[in-house]
Amino acid sequence: MKRFTALLMALVMAVLAGQTLNARTGVKYTPAASEFTVETNADAQQVKLRLYKEGIGGKAVKTINMKRTQQGSALWHADVKGDLKGKFYTFDVKYNGKFRGESPGIWATAVGVNGKRGAIVDMNETNPQGWNTDKRPNIAAKDLILYEMHHRDFSIDESGGFTYKGKFLALTEPRAISHLKALGVNAVHILPSFDYASVDETRLGEPQYNWGYDPVNYNVPEGGYSTDPYKPEVRINEFKQMVQALHKAGIKVILDVVYNHTWNIDGSNFQRTCPDYFYRKNADGTYSNGSGCGNETASEREGMRQFMIESVKYWVDEYHIDGFRFDLMGVHDIETMNAIRAAVPQDIFIYGEGWSAGSCAYTGELAMKANINKMPGIAAFSDEMRDALRGPWDSNSKAAFLGGVKGNEESIKFGIVGAIKHPGVDYSKVNYSKAPYASEPTQMIAYVSCHDDMCLVDRLKASVKGITPDELIRLDLLAQTAVLTSQGVPFLLSGEEMLRDKKGVHNSYESPDSINHLDWDNLERYPQVMEYYKNLIALRKAHPAFHMGDADLVRSNLDFLPTENCLVAYHINGRGVPGEQWGDIYVALNANKRARTIDIPEGSYTVVCRNIKCNTNGLATVKGGKVTIPAQSALILHN
Ligand code: CA
Repeated sequence: MKRFTALLMALVMAVLAGQTLNARTGVKYTPAASEFTVETNADAQQVKLRLYKEGIGGKAVKTINMKRTQQGSALWHADVKGDLKGKFYTFDVKYNGKFRGESPGIWATAVGVNGKRGAIVDMNETNPQGWNTDKRPNIAAKDLILYEMHHRDFSIDESGGFTYKGKFLALTEPRAISHLKALGVNAVHILPSFDYASVDETRLGEPQYNWGYDPVNYNVPEGGYSTDPYKPEVRINEFKQMVQALHKAGIKVILDVVYNHTWNIDGSNFQRTCPDYFYRKNADGTYSNGSGCGNETASEREGMRQFMIESVKYWVDEYHIDGFRFDLMGVHDIETMNAIRAAVPQDIFIYGEGWSAGSCAYTGELAMKANINKMPGIAAFSDEMRDALRGPWDSNSKAAFLGGVKGNEESIKFGIVGAIKHPGVDYSKVNYSKAPYASEPTQMIAYVSCHDDMCLVDRLKASVKGITPDELIRLDLLAQTAVLTSQGVPFLLSGEEMLRDKKGVHNSYESPDSINHLDWDNLERYPQVMEYYKNLIALRKAHPAFHMGDADLVRSNLDFLPTENCLVAYHINGRGVPGEQWGDIYVALNANKRARTIDIPEGSYTVVCRNIKCNTNGLATVKGGKVTIPAQSALILHN
C-alpha cells in the first residue's frame, strides 16, 4: 500500500514537472523513417535537429525544427522519412533565449567517434551470431566471486599475448577465458565501459589511459575499447561478443556505472538537453559537488531517477548485463536505489560504494553504507574489513592487522560475518561502523584491494617495515584468505593473483601502462600465489559453510574462538549448513610474526589450508587440542 501511494505521488509529481515517465528518447529507426524525440525543460523555446553524414566534422546535411508533441509538452519530436541508417544526428535546445549547443541528447544508444553525435543504426544488425540464445549464468548472490578489471590493465602488455590488446574483444580470447576459469572467479566487474571522455578516440594509436569515471554517453559502450570507434555498430557488436564469450564460460558481467556525476556541466548531454534539471545546487545557487568531480546529479528528481532506472534496464535488456556496481552510491537517494532494485530481475546483482566524496545538497536519506539495511538486495563495500587488514584509507604507510598492529580483530570479525548483527562481534571496537548495517551477509562486499588506492603488494611494501619477499607472499595470501572465507561477497582486484604491483602509485587513474598493466610473466615467477588463490576459491565454492547467504544461518552456525592480538579464529558448525559435507570447520588467521595456537576439541581433523598451502582434498591430518598456526598465515581444518 505504502509503495503504491509513493508510486502514485511520483506519477503526479512527474506530470506536474512536465516530465514523461519511462521515456527512452533519442531515435527510433525503421528503414522507412526515423522518429526523433527529446525531452527538455517545459519552458524551452526551440529545438533544432541536425543530420550529418559523419560522426565528426562536416556540415549538417539537414536541419529540422522539432515540434512539441502537444502544446505545453516538454517532449519534442520530428519524423524524418527515408532510410537514415549510417547517418548521425544532434539536438540543439534553445532555453532562456540561448541555444545550449549540439549534443546527442541523453538517450543516444549509438554514437560517432568521441560520442559527439548520435548515430542511426539498426540494433538488430549489431548482434553477434547466437546472441538470441545468450543467457545470464544462473549464479546466486551468495555464490559470487567478483573480479574487478580494467580492459587495458588486463590485456595491454605483450606478456599477455593477446591479439586485441586493451579491447573488449580481449575477453573473448582463449587466454582470458582459460585464466578466469582456472582462477575460478564467476563474475567480471569491468571498470567504466560506457562512453567516457578522458580518452581521445581519434588518437587511439597513442598510449592513453584512464579509468573512465567521466561519463559522456551512459547508454553506449566506450569507443576506446573497440577496434573502430568511427563505426558506431562496431563497439556495440564487440561489447556483445565480450558478454557472450564470458557467459559461455559461466562468468557474469558486471558494469561499473557512474550516474552520480558527469565529465563536465556546461558541455554535458544533461545540461544541453534540460539545463539545470539534472544537477543538485547549493542554497547559494552554486553546483553541489558530492562526487568530488565538480558536480553531482539529482537522483531524487523524477527525470533523473527514471533515467537511471531505464538506463540500467537498457543494459540488462540490450547487452545482457548481470549486475551493476554503483560508483559513489552514497550520492544517490535510497528511494532511487530501491526503485532500480525493483525494476530489474532478482538475479541482477547490485552493489556500490556506500559513501560520497563530499557533502551532498540533499536533505533526504542517501544510499550510504549505514543505510544498507533499508535497501534489501543491495550490497556495499566494507571498508571496515579492508582497512582492518591493510591499514586506513587516509594513509598509504600505516599498517593494520597484516602489519602486526593489534586492535583490528573486531573489524575483521565484522567482515567475516558479512556486516550483520552477530553476538560474537564487539561493535564498539569496530573501526568505522559501531553497529551492523547489513540485514543479510550478501549485502557486504569483502575485499582488501580494488582499483582505488594501492594494490595489495604496494600497500604491504609501503606499510610493513622491512618486509621480506617471503613475508610479502605470506601476508598477501593471508589477506585473501580473510576475504575468501568471509560470509560477505568476495571481491578481488584483477592481477592480485599474479602478485601485481603499481610501482607504489596509489591513484593510477591516468598512469601509463607501465604502472597499470598486468605482467603475465608473474604467473611463472610466483606460481604459488595463483595456486593458492585458485585452491582457496575452489574450497569456497565447494563448501556452503563459507557462503551461507543467510544471516540466521551465520548467527547460529558461526562462533568465534577467543581473540588474541593479531589472531582471529572461528568455528563453523557445518552440520547446520544446508548442503555442507564437513562437520566442524575451524578457520584461524594469524598475522603475528610467530606461530600461535588455538584450542579445539579432541578428535581427528583434516587440514585443508596451512602455511600458505591450500587444498580442498586435504594436506594432512591433525589431532585436536592445541593446534599450531604458523606465522603470518591461515589455517583451515575440518572433521
Ligand atoms: Ca569515449
